[in-house]
Amino acid sequence: TRRPLIAGNWKMHKTGEEAVQTVQQLKSLVADVQDVEVMVAPPFTALAPVAQALAGSTIALGGQNMHWESKGAFTGEIAPGMLVAAGCRYVIIGHSERRQFFGETDTTVNQKIRAALTADLQPVFCIGESEAQREAGQTFSVLDKQVQNGLEGLFSQDLQSLVVAYEPVWAIGTGKTATKEQAQEVHAHVRQLIADTVDKHLAETMRILYGGSVNPGNVKALMAMPDVDGALVGGASLDPETFSQLVHYQ
Ligand code: 13P
Repeated sequence: TRRPLIAGNWKMHKTGEEAVQTVQQLKSLVADVQDVEVMVAPPFTALAPVAQALAGSTIALGGQNMHWESKGAFTGEIAPGMLVAAGCRYVIIGHSERRQFFGETDTTVNQKIRAALTADLQPVFCIGESEAQREAGQTFSVLDKQVQNGLEGLFSQDLQSLVVAYEPVWAIGTGKTATKEQAQEVHAHVRQLIADTVDKHLAETMRILYGGSVNPGNVKALMAMPDVDGALVGGASLDPETFSQLVHYQ
């Protein structure tokens, strides 16, 4: 059985102070939750104060990106060990916004996943097709390539902590959610691909999150699908009451 994970990707929102305020409210709103794991990924500048505010709570902290090297002359970058030291357990890797706007490729994604695993950070490995690719019938071939390239050279024993997030690019921030059937179809396909190319047992235990316009109105139906193990939430994770509704999807 896979423990559901509801994760908030705050993207470029909230100062340290605003972020602390949000998690203080969130902490009490989700204090009753036991069978669902909750994670928030604030901007880098908010990580340390948020970690402090989360002390003693079960809400996990994640970074939104990182570099693959452990230190060096890489102006503007953050190393895996810095995220760990700031209190992170997770790191989002290969988000479509990073692929689209910041030159992230399957190769850099692979380097980052390796570095995250080495640093004992759980990668939340993002994949997803564009609208044009879906319309051209390329969804599965695009996703297969992202998964295979992103996980190249990694084996079952390395990938035990891996989380995959399926985020169709056309569903991100658009209000256009994938239907629960579309999400299920892709999640089942990705799980089968992992079973065939990496390991059957890993495929069965690995969590696959859905992301893209998840909100309190659609979360329950998505989470009811057998291969949807959680959600990676942007806009609806910024407000603590709304995010708490998502965590309480049951
Ligand atoms: P929205 O929930 O705002 O569509 O964003 C999804 C996302 O990109 C989460 O990483």
